[in-house]
Amino acid sequence: MRIAVIGAGTTGLTAAWLLSPDHDVTVHEAEAGPGGAVRTHVLDTDRGPVPLDLGAQHLSPTDFVAHRALRRLTGIGEDEERTVPLTLTVTAADNEPLLVTPDAAHDTERGRTPVTGTAWEQIGAFLAATAGQQPGTVAHDVAGKPIAAPLPSAFTVAEAADAAGVDKEVRDGILLPWLASYTGCRLADAAAMPARYAAAWALRTPPGRPEDAALWINLSGSLHTLTARLADSLGGRLHLSDPVSGISAGGPRGSAPLTVHTADGAAPVYDRVIVAAPARAAARMLTADPVLAERAVLLDRLPYEPVTVALHRDARYMPPERRHWSAVTVHAHDDRGEPTYWFAAAGGPDVFKSWITHRDEPADVLRLAHFRLPVLTADAMATRRKLHDLRLSPHLQLAGSYLYDIDSQESAVRSALSAAEEIDASAARPSRLRAALEAEAVS
Ligand SMILES: Cc1cc2nc3c(=O)[nH]c(=O)nc-3n(C[C@H](O)[C@H](O)[C@H](O)COP(=O)(O)OP(=O)(O)OC[C@H]3O[C@@H](n4cnc5c(N)ncnc54)[C@H](O)[C@@H]3O)c2cc1C
Repeated sequence: MRIAVIGAGTTGLTAAWLLSPDHDVTVHEAEAGPGGAVRTHVLDTDRGPVPLDLGAQHLSPTDFVAHRALRRLTGIGEDEERTVPLTLTVTAADNEPLLVTPDAAHDTERGRTPVTGTAWEQIGAFLAATAGQQPGTVAHDVAGKPIAAPLPSAFTVAEAADAAGVDKEVRDGILLPWLASYTGCRLADAAAMPARYAAAWALRTPPGRPEDAALWINLSGSLHTLTARLADSLGGRLHLSDPVSGISAGGPRGSAPLTVHTADGAAPVYDRVIVAAPARAAARMLTADPVLAERAVLLDRLPYEPVTVALHRDARYMPPERRHWSAVTVHAHDDRGEPTYWFAAAGGPDVFKSWITHRDEPADVLRLAHFRLPVLTADAMATRRKLHDLRLSPHLQLAGSYLYDIDSQESAVRSALSAAEEIDASAARPSRLRAALEAEAVS
């Protein structure tokens, strides 16, 4: 089959890699390079060049099973991975620490002083209550008493915080800025999010004990290692600087042949198309075709937040005392929370990555990057469900991390696998990735 994949982020590259040995696959990517939300800056240091992730960076060692299977199938071994204790500091607007999470295994050697107390207990009760939304788990309030009935899965962050006994000061000063910092949204938006999605990052790789840090994985060569493996395998079939402006269907009810209109006026025809661009961009491609436009209306309803990221050497967003520094510092200010990632905590150089969409640009900036992040409101979740149910055209698949679970590298790979399986589940690579996933589920 002739297959077009639109977008060369993790989703599009994975889908193309899965189908390319068995089919004639072409990838159309708007930008001059592949990767999408995966972008790398190579920093010159005394120890040589060090690649640093500007966008996506952290992988769950336990929960990102499809991503790990893909890494192994593309030849990326454990020796290219690094375990990172993801300690967290939350500061007030003046940078004074309100919470510094413990990392019992390393705090003494690294001169860290946790700031925990009742705030930490309340955050723990909130996470337990939210985890308790999954069947088979029991939630406890801040006093350690089991919460009588499991919280409904539609419970918002504000409702889950109330049920867990989180007081207003901890909720507004620590919990909401922390949860808002994942998407860069307002505190009020974080309070209204479905709790199990808002807290999903914290619940993906929970530490075994409250005094331990959550452990995550970084790739030593940055996530570009995977992007490069996938992109290189495509060779000349990856068309860069080739934005798609529209898709039109030639068959009844949006079926094949599908014509892909590119900005340079070309109009190649395909048997199948996978749209792996972000929701808003996908909507623009589908509006011109009367049948496909029904999906465009839904895609346009999915909210995104702009995010500006600075890679810099200025410690201005860190607490005044170094003993309170963590791998991630969330700065609560102006009704928002914005994070700073400190690469030295992950064994890297003394360089920071800060989200500066709503705060002043730091000094000594090495690089700026602009992204958009999907925000998981209750309406977005309902819209996503409708999109999943809408199977107008069996020949056009929507794929993208925004469609599955929380927006992550794992959801990107899972959405790519599901789109590839819709097209040809018996092809060699989708079968191998599915088998690896099922083997993991059994073990
Ligand atoms: C700042 C940031 C930090 C993150 N951190 C993490 C993290 O630590 N861990 C984690 O697991 N996840 C993280 N994520 C989320 C995750 O990495 C992304 O959601 C995932 O990489 C998205 O992959 P994707 O391919 O679905 O979309 P994208 O990466 O957005 O790729 C879509 C591609 O489509 C292309 N495109 C758009 N319009 C067109 C068009 N008209 N024609 C052709 N091509 C088009 C774009 O140029 C882009 O290359 C982060 C995301 C961001 C933005």
